[in-house]
Order: sequence, then structure tokens, then C-alpha cells
Amino acid sequence: MSQPTILYIEDNFHNRRLVRRILESQHYQVVEAEDGERGWAAVQALRPTLVLMDISLPGAMDGLDVTARMKQDATLRQIPVIALTASAMRGDRERFLAAGCDDYLSKPIQASELLDMVADYCARSLAQ
Ligand code: MN
Repeated sequence: MSQPTILYIEDNFHNRRLVRRILESQHYQVVEAEDGERGWAAVQALRPTLVLMDISLPGAMDGLDVTARMKQDATLRQIPVIALTASAMRGDRERFLAAGCDDYLSKPIQASELLDMVADYCARSLAQ
């Protein structure tokens, strides 16, 4: 079985560095994209095991747009999407799930919480 590949779509350099450090400590392969267009291209090119999705992104596509495109594509919709966002407004979780995100983690990112969720969804993804 190949090593899980995790695509992290995030415009903030510090968050990308933090998440990369956490995931690489557990030997996940991490690929980054810094906006929605690059993220969507990377999803199609890589078909990652899992996508970590920032919601607020610069450019024409935000994280919910990328998620919606994935979930409309029969060949990509089985890839789990975990939203990672500082947004904690009432109703946000429901909005993310309605757009097709499989789960949600709020920033600031806690290493143990992130690793638990990533392990869980990678196992499901690889079992398909
Ligand atoms: Mn952002």
C-alpha cells in the first residue's frame, strides 16, 4: 500500500509550515497548494488520500468552491475533505458540511486532534 498523500490547500504560510511539520512527524506525504485554483488542479493531478481545506482563500475559488467541485465529480468525490478554519460563527459547521466537507477542525490547530482525524479519514479513504 502506498504512503498516504495529504493535500493541504491553505494560503497562510505559517499554517502550512505547522501542518507540514505535524504530518511529516508521522511520515505522511504532504503536498501544499496556496489558492483554490492551484488546489483544484492538484486534486485532479494527484488524487490525494485526503484533502485538508482552508475555507477563506485568495482568488476566484474558495475552499467551499473546491470542495463542491470535488463532490460533483464521480471520480473525486470519495476523497475525504476536512475543513480547517478559524471561522467559528454559528452555522459555519453546517455550511461546511452542506458544501460537501466530510469534517471540520477549528484553528488554532492542535497536533493530537489533527493527527487523530487524519488517521481516521486516511484509513477510510484507503479502505475504499
Ligand atoms: Mn485562508
